Amino acid sequence: MRALLDLILPNRCGGCDRLGEQWCAGCADQLGRAPVRVRPRADPGIACWALGPYAGVGRRAVLAAKEHGRRDLADPIGLAMARALVRLRAPDHPLLLVPAPTRSSAARRRGGDPVARSARAAQRWLIDCRTAPLLRMSSGVRDSVGLTPRQRVDNLRDKISTVAEPDRWLTRAAKAQVVVVDDVLTTGATACEAVRVLGRIGIVPRAVLVVCAA
Ligand SMILES: [Zn+2]
Repeated sequence: MRALLDLILPNRCGGCDRLGEQWCAGCADQLGRAPVRVRPRADPGIACWALGPYAGVGRRAVLAAKEHGRRDLADPIGLAMARALVRLRAPDHPLLLVPAPTRSSAARRRGGDPVARSARAAQRWLIDCRTAPLLRMSSGVRDSVGLTPRQRVDNLRDKISTVAEPDRWLTRAAKAQVVVVDDVLTTGATACEAVRVLGRIGIVPRAVLVVCAA
């Protein structure tokens, strides 16, 4: 019964596992700090920012959202992303968030895509911001855990594409600051491929923002 209740209404903090609340003030404070500039080995050619390292609060929150079905964490992760975007965006420009794609088999297993969910949660806090699910990942992409940087790049080559009808986003994208968002940045392989594929339809992202940089 306890386990069942925890699934419906988690009562442990998704960042520090403390009993009593879904997301505690201490974790909100840690994840909500100024984003840090990161420089992945594979350089997507635009600024990359992370809410924090792939450790502690950020790492636990990402894993809980991704692997342990904690959908509720999209809200606090989204809020922390929104705070970072307020700092990063140029004023008076619309914002367009493009979630990095997730392997569809993984998304199905997780009951939806936690990155897209967090992006939509971030959007709710931001003025003139939309989330454009423009990218998809084709089947045949392996889980990147355990792969070398070289293998990660090979694993993703030509596996990310734009959705069938990206046109409805192009007008907005032309006027907006486009930010690619993801949960974890490791080698930068996904960010590079996402930026390259968006470039093919004329969208030039301004930055990459991730929750954690490994
Ligand atoms: Zn906590």
